[in-house]
Amino acid sequence: MKLRKGDRVQVLQGKDRGSRGDIMRVLPRTNRVIVEGVNRAKKHQKATRATMQGGIIDKDMPISASAVAIVCSTDGPTRIGYRIEDNGHKTRICKKCGGDL
Ligand SMILES: [Zn+2]
Repeated sequence: MKLRKGDRVQVLQGKDRGSRGDIMRVLPRTNRVIVEGVNRAKKHQKATRATMQGGIIDKDMPISASAVAIVCSTDGPTRIGYRIEDNGHKTRICKKCGGDL
């Protein structure tokens, strides 16, 4: 999983194709991500002690990580590459322009 929480991504497939949002959560085990405002579904919420009230709420459902691309500030949607620093750390870079992501 190359994506991280907080990444700005664009949806490439599905009903939300073309829309952008920030990653709220990464689910590595299922290779899915939850993107703010993407794949939003109506969910019938039962009243619980935590939510206080029930009703229908909008919930962002997980989407396949392969259906989104990280957004580079200069190129738009792009693929992620890596640059190895002298100290061994990997920095994520844009495969189109080589800039840091
Ligand atoms: Zn770029």
